[in-house]
Amino acid sequence: MTASPAAHRAASETGDPFLLTPGPLTTSRSVKAVMVHDWGSRDAEFLRINREVLDRLPAIAHAAATHVTVPVQGSGTFAVEAMLTSLVPPDGEVLVLINGAYGHRAKRILEIARRRTVVHETSEDTPPDLAAVERILAATPSITHVFAVHCETTSGILNPVAEIGALAARHGKSFLLDSMSAFGALPLDANAVHADAIAASSNKCIEGVPGLGFVLCRRDVLAAAKGNATTLVLDLHDQWQAFEKTGQYRFTPPIHVIVAFHQALEEFLAEGGQPGRHARYAGNCKVLVDGMRALGFRTLLPDALQAPIIVTFHMPKDPRFVFQRFYDSLKDRGYVIYPGKLTVADSFRIGCIGRLHREQMEGALAAIREALAEFGMADAAMAA
Ligand SMILES: *Cc1c(COP(=O)(O)O)cnc(C)c1O
Repeated sequence: MTASPAAHRAASETGDPFLLTPGPLTTSRSVKAVMVHDWGSRDAEFLRINREVLDRLPAIAHAAATHVTVPVQGSGTFAVEAMLTSLVPPDGEVLVLINGAYGHRAKRILEIARRRTVVHETSEDTPPDLAAVERILAATPSITHVFAVHCETTSGILNPVAEIGALAARHGKSFLLDSMSAFGALPLDANAVHADAIAASSNKCIEGVPGLGFVLCRRDVLAAAKGNATTLVLDLHDQWQAFEKTGQYRFTPPIHVIVAFHQALEEFLAEGGQPGRHARYAGNCKVLVDGMRALGFRTLLPDALQAPIIVTFHMPKDPRFVFQRFYDSLKDRGYVIYPGKLTVADSFRIGCIGRLHREQMEGALAAIREALAEFGMADAAMAA
């Protein structure tokens, strides 16, 4: 630590600024504390911990009877790429639903893997047009899979995954879901939404540290995926077979990350699992949105489309408001926010997920009020 923090500088249990971002996120001290040990990758205690992690995850999507967890070393995108390239065969064709950066990323993954795609794209503040999706599915029998993003973190929009999954099922297509920023917080029943596979990671709403992605796969779909993979390391079928045969990872596992993920799952269950986590994040989101509106900020999304994960705000038009100064001023007060990633509007984002409670959301609002005062602004209403 270079200097003692000023009295008004908020800090996490470990003295760090709070991360009001889409990830990496603020984690509890106890999650970080379990990482102070070394274990061998064949250590029986580590393998037991890893097995418990893998066994607990499908239940979060009510899929313990149908889906298995295949972990993938790396960030969340590694899991999305593993899911798309292992489950879509070379002659497959994917309808990719896009309303933000993560939909575009999936399309790029498929293009690099030379899988055919059909795109249905809507604006970043607009869910897919289900009637148009239905028309595409009816008119394009060569489509084998449908891909969607649960909460598109680019804007924070909640996409209608149940309706999309129902359309895919009705037309006999396999449904693949990127639930990265929603898994564990938003209700999700893998079978009710007809998801053959769901990709997520250690680091978002489960509040572990970054470094492990995973895909919940229907067992029969995984069993049929042998030979599809375009890379060795991201081959879900091969990774799964290794676990079935030896209980071990094929390549060095991020042991510390997995042990921290196990602790994060304990804390997740102690909070009441998905409903408990959802309640805290929804509370955070409401405090944030109400407080920001009271300060004159406007959300990109109407409340009905807003997931309680991350909120996009329009940049105030007042020339006294300079985003970099705003960002620095909040950082000095112990709160890290995130720039916008939108193409439709100049914006910034504030996250509600991670080890954050009402106290941190109210603290961030107080810091925002102080920053506006610093700029000589009474509020953020569109004065210009
Ligand atoms: C965070 C996120 C990912 C994965 O991002 P990484 O930086 O690779 O962890 C994928 N999809 C969505 C919707 C996300 O929010």
